[in-house]
Amino acid sequence: MDFNFTEEQKMIANTAKKIARDFGPEYWRHKEEKGEFGEEFWKAISEAGFIGIIIPEEYGGSGKGTVELFIAMEELAANGCGMAGPWYILITEIFGALSIIKHGSEEQKEKYLPGIAKGEIEFCMALTEPDAGSNTLNTRTTAKKQGNEWVIEGNKTFISGADRAKGMLIITRTTPKEKAPKKTLGLSLFLADLPHELIEVRPIPKHGINYSHSCDVSFNSLRLPESALMPPQDMGWYSILDTLNTERMSFTAAAIGIARLAISKATAYSKQRKVFSDVPIGSYQALQFPLAEAYAALEAAKLLNFKAALLFDNGADRAAIGAAANMAKAVAVENATKAVYWAMQVFGGYGYAKEYDVERWWREINLIRLAPVTQQMTLNYIGEHVLGMPKAYF
Ligand SMILES: Cc1cc2nc3c(=O)[nH]c(=O)nc-3n(C[C@H](O)[C@H](O)[C@H](O)COP(=O)(O)OP(=O)(O)OC[C@H]3O[C@@H](n4cnc5c(N)ncnc54)[C@H](O)[C@@H]3O)c2cc1C
Repeated sequence: MDFNFTEEQKMIANTAKKIARDFGPEYWRHKEEKGEFGEEFWKAISEAGFIGIIIPEEYGGSGKGTVELFIAMEELAANGCGMAGPWYILITEIFGALSIIKHGSEEQKEKYLPGIAKGEIEFCMALTEPDAGSNTLNTRTTAKKQGNEWVIEGNKTFISGADRAKGMLIITRTTPKEKAPKKTLGLSLFLADLPHELIEVRPIPKHGINYSHSCDVSFNSLRLPESALMPPQDMGWYSILDTLNTERMSFTAAAIGIARLAISKATAYSKQRKVFSDVPIGSYQALQFPLAEAYAALEAAKLLNFKAALLFDNGADRAAIGAAANMAKAVAVENATKAVYWAMQVFGGYGYAKEYDVERWWREINLIRLAPVTQQMTLNYIGEHVLGMPKAYF
């Protein structure tokens, strides 16, 4: 067991730090207020190789593992980007690249991976539906075979990046739930090119992360060629687990990074702000202890998240990966929320002013309680799959 980064991992962390300092809180404050995509940032992370970091070298990527991916995400977040850094990477890298690397056909790999690695193809994932959020098996979007084409009908919601992506991973039902031998069978994954006249995309006004739009999406008899199916048919639930587990780990890396950023700004402020006498507010244990507790717990969550990533990179079984990924996220979410809450408290009234950025990180961190999996569903996973306790919902 070795807790040190390799020279290469240190280099990735340093590159991420440098980019984050070039695209710091002020940049994202403006992008968020205007609801604008960070084009310049996207170009910088593409040139640094972060969009293709896990793509094999034969398809134009750097061929690294998810450990390196999460190092880049956390350092971008912690050194100035907040959620934006990991968010931009994960939407394309996890939803697009990772899903295709793991389960795409050779034709799909050749079609999408080189473009993703160059930063030319952004991706998105259309999983959530109005009646299928936490319960993916309730997916109602259907894909039916007509001749040598697939016809897709249905509605998705909260699909981040769908307004500008060129590729979309779509989760559909190819066998109705009541006809499938078991409920985890009968789902299939498809890849579609965007924009498309039969895919309607409507951005949803939202609480935060407005430098990326999350959208309602409708498939209006969308016709896709046979080659758009990600094999094997009807086994999509099992394939998508790789995407969902690494998406979870990405959000954990993001939570830890946002919390580190908020803590560092708050501790710096606490050392110079004096309210009573000549003593800085940072010396008050009422402010120190909660930040110290959260920081320590986040360091523990980070180790567990790297364990989950290593298990994934080494091809461990999904149960072991899922256990580590869910436990890391559960601890990270509680403690990152606590850290950002107390960072805001350190700033007093200024914490509420946009100028100090911590209110934006507060809105960002709250998303991680809800997505990509809610805190309750994470705890359900640990209760059922790690502790072996009975399931309360079906
Ligand atoms: C900003 C944003 C971006 C997103 N981006 C994407 C995206 O790009 N692609 C995509 O596919 N999806 C995306 N999502 C959707 C996200 O993954 C879902 O919102 C999330 O999975 C929760 O589903 P839901 O909103 O339907 O909540 P529900 O499933 O309706 O849950 C509602 C509440 O009930 C609780 N609950 C439900 N079942 C149980 C249970 N058995 N035990 C205990 N509590 C339970 C939940 O924890 C939650 O508190 C995004 C969401 C947001 C807000």
